[in-house]
Amino acid sequence: MIKCSTGKRVYLTEALAEDALLDAHGRHQYAGTGPVAFYRCDDCGYYHFTSKGPMNEKLAKLLASGKLKLQQEANHWEKKLKR
Ligand SMILES: [Zn+2]
Repeated sequence: MIKCSTGKRVYLTEALAEDALLDAHGRHQYAGTGPVAFYRCDDCGYYHFTSKGPMNEKLAKLLASGKLKLQQEANHWEKKLKR
């Protein structure tokens, strides 16, 4: 596994970082503190999440569409039913 001096989780490609970012928002409800975008790291050359800066466009659209809420609810029930 690649490690970066920032200590942040490394995503190898932009696509992977974006997928993971959208997925993270589908799983967790961030109260304004979660990751909003990803950036290319000067240090390792790969991608990390950031909670600063403008929100990722796809994420913004997803949040606005209300689809994430449905996914969050689905995950919630899935967990309940699995017990
Ligand atoms: Zn890095």
